Amino acid sequence: RLEIRHLVQTYDGKRVVDDVSLTIHAGCVTCLLGPSGCGKSTTLRMIAGVEMQASGEIYVDGGLICDTVFRVPPERRHIGLMFQDFALFPHLTVRQNVGFGLKGTGIDQEARVRELLNRVGLLRHIDSYPHQLSGGEQQRVALARALAPRPSVMLMDEPFSGLDNRLRDGIRDDTLALLKEEGAAVLLVTHEPEEAMRMADEIALMRGGKIVQRGAPYNLYNAPVDKAAVSFFSDIN
Ligand code: ATP
Ligand code: MG
Repeated sequence: RLEIRHLVQTYDGKRVVDDVSLTIHAGCVTCLLGPSGCGKSTTLRMIAGVEMQASGEIYVDGGLICDTVFRVPPERRHIGLMFQDFALFPHLTVRQNVGFGLKGTGIDQEARVRELLNRVGLLRHIDSYPHQLSGGEQQRVALARALAPRPSVMLMDEPFSGLDNRLRDGIRDDTLALLKEEGAAVLLVTHEPEEAMRMADEIALMRGGKIVQRGAPYNLYNAPVDKAAVSFFSDIN
C-alpha cells in the first residue's frame, strides 16, 4: 500500500506539486493523468526518493519512508520503477538484468528470474543481451526486472510511450495482467486519457500541481469535474 500525504514540491518558488494526497491499495492501479507539465513525474520522483519533497509524508505498507526530516534511501523503499526510457543495462544479459535487484533480498535469484521470464514469454532469451531484443521484448524484460524483488509499490512513468502503436495495446493488457498477479500497489503516470481508461482501477486527474478529480474511470469520463476535464477526455474515440 502506498500513501502520500500533502506532498509539495517547489522549484524557484513555484509550487509544481501542490498538496497531493493519495492512497493506493495492494493490487490496485491508480493512473495519475494530466497534461504535460502538471507535475506528474515530479510526484513520482519524490515517491521513488530520487528527489526530496519540500513537504509532506510518504508511507509504504503503513511505514513512514520519507518526511522532511526522515528519509529511507531509494533502494530500501520496496518500490519498483519503470520509466519511459526503461534503460536495461546494455552490458548485462537478460538474466543479469532481471536478477539485478535481487542480491541481498533472500529471494532465490535463478528461480525468480526464470519464473518471470517464463511468465513474459522470454525464457529463450535468458542469455541474450538487450540489443538483441525488439523494443517490445526489452519492455517486458524491464517489467520483469522491476517486479523481481516483489516490490510493494510500482511506479511507472509513461512506460509505453516509446513503443510502436501496433504493439502498445497488447503490451498494456499483458502488463496489467502481470501487475495484478504480482499484487503491487501501482501508480502509473500518463498524459493519455485512453491509457488511463484502459488500465486504471482509479484515475487521479492532475492539473497545475493539484489533483482536481479522483474516481473510477467511467465516473470521470461520464461526469468530468469541469470544462477543462471535458476537453481533456474528448480526445478519446
Ligand atoms: P510531462 O507529461 O511533460 O512529462 P509532467 O506532468 O511529468 O509533464 P513534471 O516533469 O513533473 O511534469 O514538471 C512539472 C513542472 O516542473 C514543469 O513546469 C517543469 O518545467 C518543472 N520542472 C520539472 N523539473 C524541474 C527542475 N528540476 N527544476 C525546475 N523546474 C522543473
Ligand atoms: Mg513527465
